[in-house]
Amino acid sequence: MTRSADRTPGPDAGASPRPELRLRFAPELRFFLAARHRRLDEVRVPHDGTSTLGHVVQSLGVPLTEVGELTAGGRPAGPSHRPGSGETVSVLPVRRPQDLRSFPAGSPPSFVLDVHLGALARRLRLLGLDSAYHNDMADDALVEQAGAEGRLLLTQDRGLLQRRSLWLGAYVRGARPDAQLLDVLDRFAPPLAPWTRCMACNGTLTPVPKSEIAALLRPGTRRTYQTFMRCRGCGRLYWRGAHSGRLEATVTAARDAVRRSRGTG
Ligand SMILES: [Zn+2]
Repeated sequence: MTRSADRTPGPDAGASPRPELRLRFAPELRFFLAARHRRLDEVRVPHDGTSTLGHVVQSLGVPLTEVGELTAGGRPAGPSHRPGSGETVSVLPVRRPQDLRSFPAGSPPSFVLDVHLGALARRLRLLGLDSAYHNDMADDALVEQAGAEGRLLLTQDRGLLQRRSLWLGAYVRGARPDAQLLDVLDRFAPPLAPWTRCMACNGTLTPVPKSEIAALLRPGTRRTYQTFMRCRGCGRLYWRGAHSGRLEATVTAARDAVRRSRGTG
């Protein structure tokens, strides 16, 4: 049976290809893509002609918090750009160190961490970075706190980062807390102020005369240490004692990471 010559072509007939977009993701971002897309230099997706670039990128699994420069057809384009069919889109990662204009220049960003990042929160506090964390915060509450207190949300939950109501956020790379810490320091290169914040509650530390707290100390500690700090939030006492070797190593590694990120190491 042959097709009659006078038949009007329908939308699927003829030689015109299905509208599609071609997206080129930088290697640093491919980790977010579905497994079948990760090895491709170019991901092709059907294009309805109305979706914005931001929507297309996020629908492929890449949160916009992780995206830096976007171009469509070789020209810079924002996430709200509606690309034309057949356009090639290039997606680069956010530049490191990331310029956080939402925070005053020279001052460190403050963070709120999701429930899975408690060990990272303690390390950030050790470095003096204001890091809110509670092990029972619901997702909605995290997003709300980020907005209400002007904190950058750190998480490994891409769904959280894609929420429209989120003020500012970042995906934390790394499976272990030490690797996660280095990732955050490399990304933001924040000014550090080690030993100024309580690792347990995020309160600030203030010097306290030994005479005032001597009765609370174990004899060995009382004999050995002279300089003490107390948390304004929970009252916990701190001194840089024999057990802080691991913490000192963390501080040293952190300073090195920030120097490397700033290109001054
Ligand atoms: Zn405290």
